[in-house]
Amino acid sequence: MKETISKTIERICSKVPEDRVLRNEPMSRHTSFRIGGPAAAFVTVNNEEELAYVLAIVTDTGAEHMVIGNGSNLLVSDEGYPGIMIKLGGEFESIIRDEEDPCRVRVGAAMLMSRTSAFLTENGLSGFEFASGIPGSIGGAVFMNAGAYGGEIKDVVRTVRVMDPDGTNLRTVSNEDMQFSYRHSMAEDEGILILSAEMELTEDAPEEIAARVAELQFRRNSKQPVNYPSAGSTFKRPVGGYAAALIEQSGLKGYTVGGAQVSEKHSGFVINIGGASCEDVLAVMRHVRETVYSDSGIMLEPEVRLINCSL
Ligand SMILES: Cc1cc2nc3c(=O)[nH]c(=O)nc-3n(C[C@H](O)[C@H](O)[C@H](O)COP(=O)(O)OP(=O)(O)OC[C@H]3O[C@@H](n4cnc5c(N)ncnc54)[C@H](O)[C@@H]3O)c2cc1C
Repeated sequence: MKETISKTIERICSKVPEDRVLRNEPMSRHTSFRIGGPAAAFVTVNNEEELAYVLAIVTDTGAEHMVIGNGSNLLVSDEGYPGIMIKLGGEFESIIRDEEDPCRVRVGAAMLMSRTSAFLTENGLSGFEFASGIPGSIGGAVFMNAGAYGGEIKDVVRTVRVMDPDGTNLRTVSNEDMQFSYRHSMAEDEGILILSAEMELTEDAPEEIAARVAELQFRRNSKQPVNYPSAGSTFKRPVGGYAAALIEQSGLKGYTVGGAQVSEKHSGFVINIGGASCEDVLAVMRHVRETVYSDSGIMLEPEVRLINCSL
């Protein structure tokens, strides 16, 4: 496997400049949890051609790989990731307003949600306020159908430009064909790559939009432990309940293993209070799951994506 990875990295370096191919790169530098051992290689691709090239190589060599966004929903193993981590940059960080229909914008997958929100606010385009405080990139948000305050990314996305996992078949997929559901899209089932999303918004005064964004930001900051590294809600909302309420009812607020803790401020979040390892977080998650299950009969499912580790 090691030989496959080093040959794969060599081939990638024939197309992607070496300063964008980081070997043994700690994933703690690329995740909001600030946790994770080294990836064998961490490659930043700046355009569709580079991405297609890298995907063709990893498909050919069979090297383990994954595309990440801004790492805000990832828990990576302390051992790291034995393959190629691919991150989108450069041309994927674009946002363009449609010349014919000013209510439409095309946003590159690497564009941050916060920057997208700032652009839309300045340009008097409303509908994205609910998402303004969600950390991460547009690609990650489309993949996860991220949502907050009654909105989901599927409410504003019209079409998505995608590529197959082997770097071929560039195409535009409709909102309906993305099969969005709660924290899910068909990108997960089919392993397709999200390159950009076309969003449809409505016109409104920038100051009205800014006021709504500020109000939601205030609500978020007062309810969530935003000062600690985390990956947001650790568990998905179960049918017929709320993960945070179930965790609180089981008396688990503040439950701590090593540097990982069930937040006192919002029990739906496991936070890194300092030097947490992946194993610490997993130990907290296992205990929470077992306790909530024995108290309520509800088995919580992780929302955070576990990379090279398991519960
Ligand atoms: C403090 C905090 C608050 C949060 N609040 C919310 C919230 O209110 N609502 C919510 O929904 N989430 C929330 N989250 C979780 C997280 O912000 C979202 O899941 C976000 O959409 C992840 O985006 P990302 O770019 O960081 O993706 P990553 O975490 O990097 O990746 C997530 C998944 O998407 C895949 N992916 C990423 N980019 C692409 C791409 N271009 N093509 C194909 N697959 C891709 C990755 O392979 C991975 O499986 C919160 C997180 C934190 C830290």
